[in-house]
Amino acid sequence: MQALQETLNRKPRVIQEETNRRSSLFGSKVFTKDSQRHHLSKDAYNAVQDAVNHGTKIDRDIADQVASAMKSWALEQGATHYTHWFQPLTGITAEKHDAFFEPIGDGEAMEKFGGSQLVQQEPDASSFPNGGIRNTFEARGYTAWDPTSPAFVMGSTLCIPTIFVSYTGEALDNKTPLLRALQAVDGAATAVAKYFDKNVKKVIATLGWEQEFFLIDSALANARPDLVMAGRTVVGHHPAKGQQLDDHYFGSIPTRALAYLRELEFECVQLGIPVKTRHNEVAPNQFEIAPLFEEANLAVDHNSLLMDVMEKVAERHHFRVLFHEKPFAGINGSGKHNNWSLATDTGVNLLAPGKTPMSNLQFLTFFVNTIMAVHNHADLLRASIATASNDHRLGANEAPPAIISVFIGEQLTQVLNNLEKVSDGKLSPEEKTELKLNVVGKIPYVLLDNTDRNRTSPFAFTGAKFEFRAVGSTANCAVPMTVLNTIMAKQLMEFKTKVDALIAKKKIKKDDAIFNVLRDYIKKSKSIRFEGDGYGDAWVKEAKKRGLSNNKNTPDALKVKVNKENLDLFEKMGILSHIESEARYEIELEDYMMRLQIEGRILGDLATNFIIPTAIGYQNTLIENVSGLKNIFGSSFKKHAKEQIELITSISGHIASIKSNVDKMTEARKKANKITDAFKKSKAYCDKVKPLFEDIRYHCDKLEMTVADEYWPLPKYRELLFTK
Ligand code: ADP
Ligand code: MG
Repeated sequence: MQALQETLNRKPRVIQEETNRRSSLFGSKVFTKDSQRHHLSKDAYNAVQDAVNHGTKIDRDIADQVASAMKSWALEQGATHYTHWFQPLTGITAEKHDAFFEPIGDGEAMEKFGGSQLVQQEPDASSFPNGGIRNTFEARGYTAWDPTSPAFVMGSTLCIPTIFVSYTGEALDNKTPLLRALQAVDGAATAVAKYFDKNVKKVIATLGWEQEFFLIDSALANARPDLVMAGRTVVGHHPAKGQQLDDHYFGSIPTRALAYLRELEFECVQLGIPVKTRHNEVAPNQFEIAPLFEEANLAVDHNSLLMDVMEKVAERHHFRVLFHEKPFAGINGSGKHNNWSLATDTGVNLLAPGKTPMSNLQFLTFFVNTIMAVHNHADLLRASIATASNDHRLGANEAPPAIISVFIGEQLTQVLNNLEKVSDGKLSPEEKTELKLNVVGKIPYVLLDNTDRNRTSPFAFTGAKFEFRAVGSTANCAVPMTVLNTIMAKQLMEFKTKVDALIAKKKIKKDDAIFNVLRDYIKKSKSIRFEGDGYGDAWVKEAKKRGLSNNKNTPDALKVKVNKENLDLFEKMGILSHIESEARYEIELEDYMMRLQIEGRILGDLATNFIIPTAIGYQNTLIENVSGLKNIFGSSFKKHAKEQIELITSISGHIASIKSNVDKMTEARKKANKITDAFKKSKAYCDKVKPLFEDIRYHCDKLEMTVADEYWPLPKYRELLFTK
């Protein structure tokens, strides 16, 4: 096959780095605090820092100063254009470049960029998804500067991170609700953190994502219409060797892939993305890259930026990056673990055990409240990671199940079991001493059993942070982060109200009140805690008994977002109005439906125009062979042609099955397309169209095993996954 030959001839692209000291390059393409200090007046610098730290507004003339400084900095970096860089609800990033260059008459021109261009733009963005919020005749959407995420230069463009809202102020992007949720959790967590330290003024959410992906040679990938258009293979027989030998995980990185990763890291470091870890993943040609954690909004931007840079660098190395959660059936899928915690401006990680009983009580407070938040809103967390592509992964036997549960490890389970026994109301001095010495005081600074992690848990405590593992590799982390921080904010507010009420009503001390409320929460949230094997069937049954939700597909998972309780929750917390929530729900259902529609078309095309003709071609050679044998052997030919005749018959059978199933699928799609209700339509795709994919695939894959290799028009799993 030509594509394979091309692949085998490739040499790794080697770049010469000027220095191996990446620290000296870190953030060199970012308008960092440091470069701001160099380029801005003191007033302007302080105004920007105030905006970053306290959300204060930036005056018009300060904005002009910042813009002018940003422009001269960007020109030094070789930028010719600028763009507002935003994250519309397509899930990817958007940019529209404008030149700094502007003719000013009389044949003269200059580089221009003022405060108004920095602060706000009006992209003609009528074709971004908006779920009906913005009618096309009101095509105006605004992008507005987010000073909390620094501007950067990519290629020759100054990129300014922005939010994207409608003319009437509704959020049309993933960043706006995230910023609102981060503000909510800051307020709620700061109030609770003050129980333990009066000096805390701000709490930030921290996020460290781990990005998994496949690297496939572009010549091979381009020869697969399904990979090109849907990012996953819709047909393909398992290779003889998959991942059963476990010989890829943490193995030495293949030379070409390493050259790619090096150049990628080189770019990332300059863009201020603190990439730190790279390694092979479980499946062949699967890798992971992870940075050090950062403030959540910045970390989200950095993940979106990384995905973009990954694709750009891949082009130079003749690779295609597959972000899809399940590009290959029967082979491990990809996720994007979201490691999350809360940190104070006094430098304390609120989800890390401390060295004193007091700091441990603080830890337990945030720890138990997180478990309670997940317990109360597990269905919203599930909804936050629901997409057509992640459906392939959740519940497949190597990915966390669609049932949300929390893993905390043996040591902490023991601590919570002990806390559950705390008495009601005022604690006796003996009980307090016992608690401080033997329960809270005994939480080890380093939690030993976190090394023995339960890989099957969708939401696991791993030392000093929770790890939301069910997030898919294509996800924009803003979506799950918005939900997690919102439910945490709500939970902490309720906690504070309860504790304050107990102090006031029962006249008990703060510590006693905290112990009392935590004890209640531990009891109430027990059903969400699960330490066992999340992949087993036994868990599905057990979870059902416990009353946990198990929304296996995207439409069912999304539906909970628009029940009265959740609509109110998001509105009351100031994250999303009813209209905004409903719009998102519509967009997500539509996205789900369209992806299945596209996959259905691709599968139909592959089956009808690639696979059936190939099978017929091969069958013809068999027929020729049989008639040749007949010529030679006359009436006794059957003795010599038995296998060939069986093959001919079996090929006909598969062709007939493919044809009839493709027809059925097309019919099912046509029927589904007539449905106007978005939920019912996506359900029809889920229940009526999608199951036929499997039937069609089954026969296509059988043919792949039957037809002579030289006839097969598509690169096989063997080639895609094992060519280095
Ligand atoms: P792994 O889970 O692969 O063993 P680690 O646990 O060391 O690796 O870290 C995984 C990710 O978790 C990294 O991105 C790391 O920066 C991040 N992380 C560590 N501490 C925190 C924290 N307090 N808040 C958010 N993310 C964190
Ligand atoms: Mg991890």
